[in-house]
Amino acid sequence: MIERAIVLSSGDELTTGRTVDTNANFIADKLVAAGLDVVAIMVVGDYPDRIAWAWQQAMQHAEVVIGTGGLGPTADDLTTEVLAQVAGRRLYMDQAIADRIRQMFAAMGRVMPENNLKQAMFPEGATIIPNALGTAPGFRLDIETERGGRHLIVLPGVPREMKPMIEEQVLPWLQQARGGEDVYLSHTFQTFGISESALDELVAGSIPSAEGRIAFRAAFPQISVRLTVHGPPAIASQRLAELSARLRERIGAYAYGEGDTSMEEVVGTMLTQRRLTLALAESCTGGLIGNRITNVPGSSAYFIGDFVTYSNDAKTAVLGVHAATLERVGAVSEEVALEMAAGARGLAGSDLGLATTGIAGPDGGTKDKPVGTVCIALATAEKSYVRRYQFWGTRDWVKILTSQVALDWVRRHLLGLDPSESGVLRR
Ligand code: AMP
Ligand code: MG
Repeated sequence: MIERAIVLSSGDELTTGRTVDTNANFIADKLVAAGLDVVAIMVVGDYPDRIAWAWQQAMQHAEVVIGTGGLGPTADDLTTEVLAQVAGRRLYMDQAIADRIRQMFAAMGRVMPENNLKQAMFPEGATIIPNALGTAPGFRLDIETERGGRHLIVLPGVPREMKPMIEEQVLPWLQQARGGEDVYLSHTFQTFGISESALDELVAGSIPSAEGRIAFRAAFPQISVRLTVHGPPAIASQRLAELSARLRERIGAYAYGEGDTSMEEVVGTMLTQRRLTLALAESCTGGLIGNRITNVPGSSAYFIGDFVTYSNDAKTAVLGVHAATLERVGAVSEEVALEMAAGARGLAGSDLGLATTGIAGPDGGTKDKPVGTVCIALATAEKSYVRRYQFWGTRDWVKILTSQVALDWVRRHLLGLDPSESGVLRR
């Protein structure tokens, strides 16, 4: 059974922080999508003992190990040699590959340096994985260990060469080696307003591990929940539908969307369907919410405009916020947020008016209104809502969080829920 994988990147440029390990990122994503359990991503420098150690470790914990890097012609390219030793295989030169490398040099009008022949060396028994874009082919070595069969795959480090080798050769082999028909299907819920741990509690026990797997991914400010099932196509898709329905019920209104979508897209779709319009009055978010809304194609159907009023004077002159209110309770207050929302709605003639005012920091906080104090208000034809929040984090964090909560207010209102119950739990 092939269930677990480890991705092993090697190269001094990675361990010294000069190059970001994008290979592991790419490969792990493909493996997870194919339904494998990626146990670990390992990174080691170009030292024989460290490379050997990493392969030995990886082989203990996964049936498939995919390594990249160290296949070049130079002295610091050690992967093939070390792996042959680890696997107890001798090296041999593949004559056809050697000829091909020689031809590639000849085609460029150059003579092949002898050290390039190193790239034609393989551990005995290896299955060569051709490289259409470079001189170094990869290979796969299938070995038996005390813990069972292991498949060791080695690919070049150059991302442009590695990627098609993964997609065109490694993944199809994997699919076949894992036993034909079975497919892996997944469904994602995008959530907001609940912490990862609370979300975990909420879904706990809903999906028996034999039927599906749940993975959480926090990508500030939202957390996605991915459900993956596996089996013969018809059974898998039915099970996915059933388990998704169960999760949908559990997560409830915290799930703002399903699949690959954003809060602003969801809000846009809802406004369009209900034929409602929106105007904004932004202070601390400085136009961020308007930017997010207008990033969605078709937003002109529901978005009237954005009054970015940063100073007190602008709030008064543009939105009609009372100078007396500003004087009495300050710009960051529920009262001012309400007047801003009502002002934007009145000026734009929109169905909804949404306002933000707050202290994004790092300066400007006081004892009563520390950095992160944000007031959000929503004005509608029937009723207005307002709430003061205490957010946290850096300036950009506070702005992003404010924009997300404010958009969530619109979503919740359109669902018939109290918008001001939108929260951000920190635990
Ligand atoms: P190598 O196959 O070790 O000769 O790697 C060739 C080049 O590919 C390196 O110089 C890096 O620029 C790039 N590279 C190697 N490994 C990685 C990796 N894990 N992520 C991104 N780039 C890499
Ligand atoms: Mg290298």
